[in-house]
Amino acid sequence: MRHRQREEIPGQNPCLSCGACCVGLRASFYWAEADDAVTGGVPARLTVRVDAFRRAMRRGRKGRCVALRGTPGRRVSCGIYDRRPSVCRNFQPAWAEGPAGARCLEARARLELPPVHHGNENPFTEMPVRQRASPSGME
Ligand code: SF4
Ligand code: SF4
Repeated sequence: MRHRQREEIPGQNPCLSCGACCVGLRASFYWAEADDAVTGGVPARLTVRVDAFRRAMRRGRKGRCVALRGTPGRRVSCGIYDRRPSVCRNFQPAWAEGPAGARCLEARARLELPPVHHGNENPFTEMPVRQRASPSGME
């Protein structure tokens, strides 16, 4: 989920015309990432409690994250891009990560979108370097 809200040019970043992982997967994360625990955190009103330790992004119509804007498969953005949870920051796009992006390909396939292959697309060089961590939490 490397789509941003504003300045990117559609076509440069495959995520900007996809959003499949924001539809088919539930983004869950440690509860204290939310803004009722940390200033500037994930908006708690957009989350649900999963268990004693985890929250998840609320999902709306067709299972899409309530923060997702636009039309999946055409043009999308994250409405809370700067405050999105770590699981979203760390999700591995197939076009950037190769085989490590298998879940990206699975998500795209569920929306009947063609696979994006490592190196076949113009990488989105303006994106901030994200932390490398486990993508677990996308269920
Ligand atoms: S499924 Fe892959 S290409 Fe689509 S938005 Fe998510 S990371 Fe990007
Ligand atoms: S918070 Fe943003 S990046 Fe994460 S699933 Fe929702 S729309 Fe996608």
